[in-house]
Amino acid sequence: MVQFPHMFDFWVALAEGLWKKKDSLIPSGGTPEEQSHSIAILHHILDRLIVTAVPEYDHGIDYEPNVTYISASFGLPRDQDRILKLLDLMALTHRVEHSVQLITLVSRPHKYLPLKYKSLIIPLIPRLNARYKQYHATDFPILDTFLRMLVGRYLQDLLGSPSKPPEASVNKVDCRCEDCRRSNWFLQSDAVTEAFEVAQGRRSHIEKELRNLLPSGLTFTTIPRGRRYALQVTKGQETLEAGKWNTRVQKAHTFLATVGTPDELARIMGERYPDVQAALAGTKPYEMGDPVLIAPPSEGAEGAISSAEATTSRAQTGPVVAGVKRKAEDYGDIIDVSSD
Ligand SMILES: [Zn+2]
Repeated sequence: MVQFPHMFDFWVALAEGLWKKKDSLIPSGGTPEEQSHSIAILHHILDRLIVTAVPEYDHGIDYEPNVTYISASFGLPRDQDRILKLLDLMALTHRVEHSVQLITLVSRPHKYLPLKYKSLIIPLIPRLNARYKQYHATDFPILDTFLRMLVGRYLQDLLGSPSKPPEASVNKVDCRCEDCRRSNWFLQSDAVTEAFEVAQGRRSHIEKELRNLLPSGLTFTTIPRGRRYALQVTKGQETLEAGKWNTRVQKAHTFLATVGTPDELARIMGERYPDVQAALAGTKPYEMGDPVLIAPPSEGAEGAISSAEATTSRAQTGPVVAGVKRKAEDYGDIIDVSSD
């Protein structure tokens, strides 16, 4: 399917407009059957608009080395704004179950995961927290689900275990040639230096790809090898340190501190909190599960719902998740989607 730029804002504005005008869109005359048919159509359109807008949250944005945001000239990175806009829209139109789709996309594995965390996710978290304070909903289940997934992805794919950095924790050269595969193996390993004894064209290619990936993290020297030359690549101190367990644990603690206090973290992670502590202690690597909407504690044990249920079981009228729909209604009217 052809993706057009700038459609995201259109989908969101259309959904917001339909919702705000819903009373005048549904004819007051007619039989109850006709009325409920109109309501069903409106809800169907809203669902389609939101489901279409969600995957476009990062449309036009590349989390790649040396690529700047296309929206840099507009101030804030637009991917963060789009995520907050979608959450506002879901709360406004009582469609919190769609947030599972958004959460899954934002927290999915990525080729340059450390970069995505640095550019998008770490700056997003304080804004998510602030937004939910604005809703006066500290126990809003979407926020906890979102944070739980972002913490899980971090622990599983960036922290890993003391024995080896996780595959995703090292940004890699995006070329599948034999030489670049060897570069990537070197980046992932704890080796300090590697010599590529190949022809000049290949040496230039290796150097260009690595310089693009890590502009200041490596040094390059051409050394004689018998009657030929080799490209010797050496990791700088920072690159070496980044792969070490102690550095990874320290960074994980810093990340978790942006998510919340230890008490907040315990609430967010629920029964997985001991697993978080075990991962930080290096005794057991963290493994993510599927996204699960966490109901507020006061709503009882029946509140949790799996992502599969969330996408298949939503009725037009009834609450989707115990506690969730009511919460959305409580806060729906005070959310100003047009702010930012
Ligand atoms: Zn290559």
